[in-house]
Amino acid sequence: MKTEKAWDNPMDLKGAVWQWAERIGVEVREIHLREMRRKWASISTNGRLTLNTELLHLPEALTEFVIVHELVHLLVPNHGKLFKGYMTAYLPDWEDRQERLKML
Ligand SMILES: [Zn+2]
Repeated sequence: MKTEKAWDNPMDLKGAVWQWAERIGVEVREIHLREMRRKWASISTNGRLTLNTELLHLPEALTEFVIVHELVHLLVPNHGKLFKGYMTAYLPDWEDRQERLKML
């Protein structure tokens, strides 16, 4: 099994968030990295994003899925049809990535 690249460097991970925020057209005000026990990330309606430090060590594709999921929540607060539509628009293979993440 090939080892997939992770972001490792917090600055690189944050850079990925800024790029995605610009692409999706949402405003992220703060990015925090901290240990989280039961989830990968959370975001507040005013754009304060908290990411689990574990994400630094996951394959980029999975971390990217988590980032896009959280940022799309700034457009749609729930996981309904519209949310899924945005996910598919930005990450066409998001369901595969979600499955991989669940299997970790
Ligand atoms: Zn969610």
